[in-house]
Amino acid sequence: MKDRIPVAILAATGSVGQRFIQLLDEHPYFRVTALTASDRTVGQKYGDACHWILPGGMPGWAREMEILPTIPQSATVPAAFSALPAEAALEIEPAFARAGTMVFSNASTYRMEKDVPILFPEVNPEQAAILPIQRRLRGWSGGIITNSNCTSTGLTVALKPLQDAFGLKRVFAVSMQAVSGAGYPGVPSLDIIDNVIPFIKGEEEKVEQEPRKMLGKILGDEIVPAEFLISAHTNRVAVTDGHMVCLSVELEKNVTPTEAIQAMQDYCSPEVSRGLPSAPDPVIIVRDEPNRPQPRLDRMAGNGMATVVGRIRPDSIFGLKFVVLSHNTIRGAAGGSIYNAELMFTLGYIPK
Ligand code: NAP
Repeated sequence: MKDRIPVAILAATGSVGQRFIQLLDEHPYFRVTALTASDRTVGQKYGDACHWILPGGMPGWAREMEILPTIPQSATVPAAFSALPAEAALEIEPAFARAGTMVFSNASTYRMEKDVPILFPEVNPEQAAILPIQRRLRGWSGGIITNSNCTSTGLTVALKPLQDAFGLKRVFAVSMQAVSGAGYPGVPSLDIIDNVIPFIKGEEEKVEQEPRKMLGKILGDEIVPAEFLISAHTNRVAVTDGHMVCLSVELEKNVTPTEAIQAMQDYCSPEVSRGLPSAPDPVIIVRDEPNRPQPRLDRMAGNGMATVVGRIRPDSIFGLKFVVLSHNTIRGAAGGSIYNAELMFTLGYIPK
């Protein structure tokens, strides 16, 4: 694209903010013109303020940029990518939306609002149609589009073909979540090395609710969650990146593992989401080795945007069980937001 769209990254210095910098480097649609963060770092050069933790080095253009306050006056841009903590997002994201910016948020703050989509181009691009309703109800000229929490992403993609083909009744999920999911510096090393922590504040509630909303539909002025149930246990494990989830699933019909594998392998994104720069192809990779997926080996599948599923087999209680892996700071955060923005641009919701 000749004239790329100017965009801001809000909270650019953290774990997810850095992924935005990395993934927006030479992006075909978007050009980063503003970086913001907290009062702690405002006024500093990004290269000085940011403790870069990603492989591959900080892009030169970001190094020299000055960190601006996280207020709409800092960045009059059509779109902003938000890696704000939930409390900070509460006031800041609506301020940008009111000022006319489309905010692509990773924060949990607005995810469960009935007029705010948890958009997922591979799964529910039709929920983008809630945006005009959101604008009407809130009097905004911009808007807030969220992506789900990083554990719900892989899980939801894997459930979508099963929902379409067989119907979902009940899901039992046990997560093993990487330390980067807690941001930087995140979980102290002395807590997590040689250990598993069986509690992540607020996470089980998110995993039990967000997939149902993503797999739901717009009725009137709101997004109504799908009717199946989810029970989740969430655990932090000593892995750097890549959230793994073991799932047992009860479907409306009796299904063999072969039929489930076929449904997942055949699954394609809705047409509008295909061919966008961040679109994974295939959406779901089904591994047939008995010991895959594994975070270290499989998290970068499809540039970190694909969902990797394995060990699809019968479950004596629920009928079917399998393992899902998804990259938490790419598909589950920055990459997911960027894919959402590509979709919203294609649908005409981000002016050039
Ligand atoms: P993080 O590494 O702790 O980074 C926090 C960022 O927020 C820093 O850039 C910090 O800036 C900035 N910040 C803090 N308070 C602020 C304020 N009042 N105003 C403006 N900026 C402020 O956290 P993270 O892992 O990147 O997570 C960011 C968000 O994404 C959270 O809402 C998180 O729940 C969500 N999320 C994370 C993941 C993941 O896998 N990590 C996945 C999905 C969603 P300073 O450097 O100036 O302090």
